Amino acid sequence: MSKTIFQRIIDREIPSEILYEDELCIVIKDIAPKAPVHLLVIPKKLISKLSESSEEDTNLLGHMLKIVREMARNYGIEEAFNVVINNGEKAGQTVFHLHIHVLGGNQVELPSELITD
Ligand code: AMP
Repeated sequence: MSKTIFQRIIDREIPSEILYEDELCIVIKDIAPKAPVHLLVIPKKLISKLSESSEEDTNLLGHMLKIVREMARNYGIEEAFNVVINNGEKAGQTVFHLHIHVLGGNQVELPSELITD
């Protein structure tokens, strides 16, 4: 099976600005942002979609939400942001490597490097 684009980013095979990394996940900016702040929290473990996760992933999933909270705080959007997980092609999933979209920043002051036109 060929690697997903996110696996290639994790493995440093293609460039991406990694905003945060720990032993379990990375956070990157979405390449086609749908909001002034649009981050992706991606587990290093390849889980194709949320519905394919299992009991053993419970701690990982909780950790990813913790990172969502911390990133929202770090990027000044903690008062108003959306968390989205597209699960399955019919739900709009295009990359089959689990990821959490974090979208926000429409009405808050943002770090300049995260502001998109
Ligand atoms: P989904 O449609 O939920 O699978 O989301 C996939 C997301 O990955 C989309 O919002 C894309 O814009 C984003 N994306 C695809 N390739 C890259 C990349 N190389 N770097 C950052 N984000 C990407």
